[in-house]
Amino acid sequence: MPYITQHKRIEIMQGKGSTTPGELNFTLTTLCSDYAGIPEHLDYTKINEIIGVLECIKLEFYRRVAIPFEEKKIQINGDVYHKGNCARSEIGRCTCED
Ligand SMILES: [Zn+2]
Repeated sequence: MPYITQHKRIEIMQGKGSTTPGELNFTLTTLCSDYAGIPEHLDYTKINEIIGVLECIKLEFYRRVAIPFEEKKIQINGDVYHKGNCARSEIGRCTCED
């Protein structure tokens, strides 16, 4: 949630940066709110633009950051999806070879 303390808001707006999920939420919310402008001039196109950009940021972040991270964890800890040699075979619940 973006409703962090007024003190934190000022620090972030002065360029301190965000170090918690709430502060990051505040930062992004502020950027979106500034782009949206005053409510009297807000229209669906502007709302659609903002949501579209946020969605593209999410997808690109997932593609560039989350996927490589998850692939590394699969290499370290093993896959969860059935691909043969999965951990479920140890408890008789593997369907890899069915
Ligand atoms: Zn399996």
